[in-house]
Amino acid sequence: MTLSSRTAPRVPRPSIDLEVVATERLSADLVRVTLGGPGMAAFENRPETDKYVKLKFTTPAPESAPVTRTYTVRRVDPVAGTLDIDFVVHGDEGLAGPWAARAQVGDTIALLGPGGGYTPDAAADWHLLAGDLSALPAIAATLEALPADAVGRAFIEVDSDDAILPLTAPAGVEVEWVVDATHDPEALAAVVRQCDWRTGDVQVFAHGERESMKALRRVLFDERGLDRAGVSLSGYWARGRTEDRFQAEKREPIGQII
Ligand SMILES: Cc1cc2nc3c(=O)[nH]c(=O)nc-3n(C[C@H](O)[C@H](O)[C@H](O)COP(=O)(O)OP(=O)(O)OC[C@H]3O[C@@H](n4cnc5c(N)ncnc54)[C@H](O)[C@@H]3O)c2cc1C
Repeated sequence: MTLSSRTAPRVPRPSIDLEVVATERLSADLVRVTLGGPGMAAFENRPETDKYVKLKFTTPAPESAPVTRTYTVRRVDPVAGTLDIDFVVHGDEGLAGPWAARAQVGDTIALLGPGGGYTPDAAADWHLLAGDLSALPAIAATLEALPADAVGRAFIEVDSDDAILPLTAPAGVEVEWVVDATHDPEALAAVVRQCDWRTGDVQVFAHGERESMKALRRVLFDERGLDRAGVSLSGYWARGRTEDRFQAEKREPIGQII
């Protein structure tokens, strides 16, 4: 008997064990961890520039299920058999940030995925990219994937000038770093609101801290009247919340972006 897709049990996604093969401090706030090893044979790459994995962390209670943290795959090197993940290091709180800050060659980690949701559309008249450091890996991967003649604007919010990094982008895509040490959730939205808005169909990729994304939502939908189909907008994390709490709050009014 065959089960229809509606009744078939959900097949658990396989977990892939990888090892740290290199680490690099990209800035005071960002650490690149390169993962590789035999487990890469099971990693099925995807075309989306926001592709992400769920990293599994074990918690002190051995019988409890692993806790997961979501991270963008910044780059896959199929020849070397490695992938890069760029972690925001945000102090001693949490699991993933502190793990990345301390990661050493030979450390191991298990992950699920990848998933993905956004690919730059060559038919768009222009591209608008906006986010904080947590979205920089996806924004940087997008800038590298855009055709050479693409036009647009990218806004990246950082705490200080020390977080600014060189990025590779098409000549027609202007990259602007929005430095705001106060963590004002309106900071990114204010810059996008005032920017020189181009004509034609815009494709938007905007991700980052949840309240900052809510402020952008007002600019994009209420003020600019954009069609939701051309907008990828979500929170990647929420200030003062662990990822577990942040994910749970997506079912509550406070967690809803769109
Ligand atoms: C699809 C997707 C892709 C993502 N890609 C990336 C990525 O490539 N790189 C990346 O760094 N993050 C990325 N994130 C965000 C990341 O999952 C969260 O920041 C996560 O909360 C980090 O886990 P943690 O264990 O370090 O901290 P948690 O245990 O989740 O949180 C502990 C404390 O740290 C705070 N905190 C969490 N993240 C930050 C931050 N970025 N800045 C300041 N304070 C923070 C929390 O508010 C909380 O108070 C992505 C999220 C999603 C949904």
